[in-house]
Amino acid sequence: MLNRGEMPTRWDKEADVVVVGFGGAGASAAITAQDSGASVLIVEKAPKGEEGGNTRVAGQGYLNAEPRQDAIEYFNALCGPFTVAEDVVQAWADEIGQNNDWLTSIGGDPQEHQHPPEGIEFPQLPGSGSTHKFHEGPIVGYSNTWQLFERVVGEREIEVMYESPARELIQRNGSGEILGVRVDHGGDPVYVKANRAVILTCGGFENNQEMIRNYLPGLPYCYTSGSPYNEGDGVTMAMQAGADLWHMNNYAGPSMALKVPEYRTTFSMVALHFSKVLDGGMIVVGPDANRFADEKRKTSHGKVYESGRWGPLLTPCPMYMIFDHKMFVSGPLYDKDPKAGWNPLIDRYDWSDDNTAELARGWIKTGNTISELAKLIDLDASTLENTVSRWNKDSAAGTDTVFGRTMMLDPLAEAPFFALELSPSMLNTQGGPKRNGKAQVIRPDGSPLPRLYSAGELGSIYSFLYQGTGNIGECLAFGRISGRNASAEKPWD
Ligand SMILES: Cc1cc2nc3c(=O)[nH]c(=O)nc-3n(C[C@H](O)[C@H](O)[C@H](O)COP(=O)(O)OP(=O)(O)OC[C@H]3O[C@@H](n4cnc5c(N)ncnc54)[C@H](O)[C@@H]3O)c2cc1C
Repeated sequence: MLNRGEMPTRWDKEADVVVVGFGGAGASAAITAQDSGASVLIVEKAPKGEEGGNTRVAGQGYLNAEPRQDAIEYFNALCGPFTVAEDVVQAWADEIGQNNDWLTSIGGDPQEHQHPPEGIEFPQLPGSGSTHKFHEGPIVGYSNTWQLFERVVGEREIEVMYESPARELIQRNGSGEILGVRVDHGGDPVYVKANRAVILTCGGFENNQEMIRNYLPGLPYCYTSGSPYNEGDGVTMAMQAGADLWHMNNYAGPSMALKVPEYRTTFSMVALHFSKVLDGGMIVVGPDANRFADEKRKTSHGKVYESGRWGPLLTPCPMYMIFDHKMFVSGPLYDKDPKAGWNPLIDRYDWSDDNTAELARGWIKTGNTISELAKLIDLDASTLENTVSRWNKDSAAGTDTVFGRTMMLDPLAEAPFFALELSPSMLNTQGGPKRNGKAQVIRPDGSPLPRLYSAGELGSIYSFLYQGTGNIGECLAFGRISGRNASAEKPWD
């Protein structure tokens, strides 16, 4: 690590524009900067094959919002009281409706999602009709949009340094100008000079438990179904350089999922999907052995409307999915659909069809009675028995008198009984360094940190409610803005 304002004694690499992180925002920034005449180097933390970040394993939808005025109205309504500066909203709106044209110009084939009714997440908000969700190629998912980005970068003279996490921004004393980045490669520091600018596109802090505890509301821990490489490095580097932060408490989550130490990211459970059904009885309880929500409730990327306001779904940890033998034998509990998610697409754990391998691994626990099961998972046995018996009574009557659940109303009737611990899970965080409408990272006094730009979910513009496909839409929009402006900077020597 260099002392504050200290210059490295050598530069090992150089480019006009150095892009930190090869996901959707990094690709969009790099392609645009190169098309604007700059030489570009991307430094990427993951090894080849695991680059692409959340973009690679996302649902692959991106927003092309229009008409512009409606898009602005909807965006501002999503932010509600957590307003975003007008120059940022205007810049976003200028670009977001051009995503398809730009992708077509680089060889893409934008296709509009066939709109299920839930495609627009907040239809009641003004301007929501501006939501137009697209993906690359004929099929949604399966990394298809990402593959376009990767192909286009690969076709150009853009070097990608893999297994090279950026660790520090190199900054001129006094002006605070960003001159390059220190990268770790094979345990050695590599000093990369950025003649014109650095663009931070290294994702959020999904895998940084300390930041999660500090910044996300009420979460003792949370895991992700996305890239394990997003550890908040961009937040730390930008803070060290003097950046302001924003939207740190906003994230696309939580949901409830299985996280086990052997795997880096979460497993989605079929029984908890709002539209999927397994036979048999199932409830979810918190540490007090009581149910706390409609387990089949559909959330808006983790936000629910309660007590007259939107807020994150309650996830009292530890949570347990309690189910009976009928559900255990009704099919694999893990939703292995390989359309999206790090586990299905990259780590590819082969969950057994009859769930017995996961029982043997101890991921699922079993007891002959509810009371025996409660002891195994350290819950109060009589409370859990009461919770189950109330659920069974309600399900026999066909009405969930506590939370109004309407799906999978089967009782927990068949012994043995089972428990699987659930953790809060998220897609991505939205917070990070604050940016302006030129995609410049700004200080607490609003002045830009010279030669430092950002795009994507690292300091995303989403401050509160989130419209699905908005993140990749934003990667494209601010990726282009940052790429254009970074390449237009005058070289510093
Ligand atoms: C399962 C899932 C489904 C989703 N579906 C959608 C969807 O359909 N539409 C949508 O809009 N959004 C979706 N999202 C959210 C969206 O994928 C992300 O917000 C978006 O792709 C972020 O793009 P990015 O380029 O900012 O970051 P990422 O794509 O995450 O890329 C960041 C890159 O930076 C690298 N990196 C991290 N630290 C460093 C470092 N120190 N130095 C160098 N490199 C570093 C990472 O390895 C990674 O390659 C989904 C997310 C998940 C997890």
